[in-house]
Amino acid sequence: MHEFSLAVEIAQIVEDKAAEADLASVSGLTLALGSLAIVDRDALLFALEGALRGGVADGADVAIEGIAAFARCPACGEEQPIAERFAPCLRCGAYGLKVIAGTELKLKSIEGLCRGE
Ligand SMILES: [Zn+2]
Repeated sequence: MHEFSLAVEIAQIVEDKAAEADLASVSGLTLALGSLAIVDRDALLFALEGALRGGVADGADVAIEGIAAFARCPACGEEQPIAERFAPCLRCGAYGLKVIAGTELKLKSIEGLCRGE
């Protein structure tokens, strides 16, 4: 269940960003999740609810956007969308594609109220 440690990390980043932006509270946050990331979406949402509790983003709406995965073929250099990590090249059929996007989980944006509003 590494979703819990990811959630704790994200909660910490949210706290830092909120402090940086001088937010009194965070009402919503958007995460970007690569389609090849080894993360269970529901488990992550559940873990985040707990990790955010008592912090600046307690009760915030969490949205998760998917990121399509892309890979580069080592044989022909073609960059292509991939549905699974060990798929062959669409152009030349070679195996061993190097994944260049789609395994990441990151905080994309946060929304909240500035202090003094
Ligand atoms: Zn190829």
